[in-house]
Amino acid sequence: MSARVVLASNNAKKLAELRRILEPLVPGVEVLGLADVEPYPEPAETEPTFEGNALIKARACRDVTGLPSLADDSGICVDALNGMPGVLSARWSGVPKDEGGDAANNRLLLAQLTDVPDERRGATFRAAVALCLPDGTEIVVHGEMPGRVLHAEQGEGGFGYDPLFAAEGHDVSTAELTPEQKDAISHRGRALAAIAPRVAEALQA
Ligand code: IMP
Repeated sequence: MSARVVLASNNAKKLAELRRILEPLVPGVEVLGLADVEPYPEPAETEPTFEGNALIKARACRDVTGLPSLADDSGICVDALNGMPGVLSARWSGVPKDEGGDAANNRLLLAQLTDVPDERRGATFRAAVALCLPDGTEIVVHGEMPGRVLHAEQGEGGFGYDPLFAAEGHDVSTAELTPEQKDAISHRGRALAAIAPRVAEALQA
């Protein structure tokens, strides 16, 4: 089988992650990124849920390309912040990503949790992945990675809040895991593994 699916994201790390997870699960699949398709204005992520925003992105891509399209939306939900930043994770500090947004987000989250003890530093990474097909079919799956917010940044790998987050059962941060170790337990890894059979089905139909 040789069939194409588009990931509606300009994030090179997400594209690499998706290829790493999907290619072994869906033999012959060719995963394209937005750089490989006709350029189009990306829609604003205006929904209050991960699911809603993933659908906005996947639908827009499917409508322009006519190809099966995948999109994810994800973030960290911190217990001591009543589940925030959630869908606002990428822009929590208000600093744009290309102006050091990730580092500013991490500084802000650490400052917000100053003096919060270990037993109240629980947090969960959540992801929704949407698959929109040319025939109008829409499928959404979810994944979660529970854990806690550390007291200082640890590790150089991953992206975003990874240096501040330790997954349940781990003493190291997710920035200290290998990509394969992170994929096996991550919110996005779990959601992508759940949607892979649906992608395979759709491409074989
Ligand atoms: P999205 O690209 O709109 O899904 O934004 C997700 C945001 O949530 C990213 O900018 C990160 O700040 C955060 N995030 C989501 N997944 C992860 C992860 O696996 N590690 C670290 N941060 C993440």
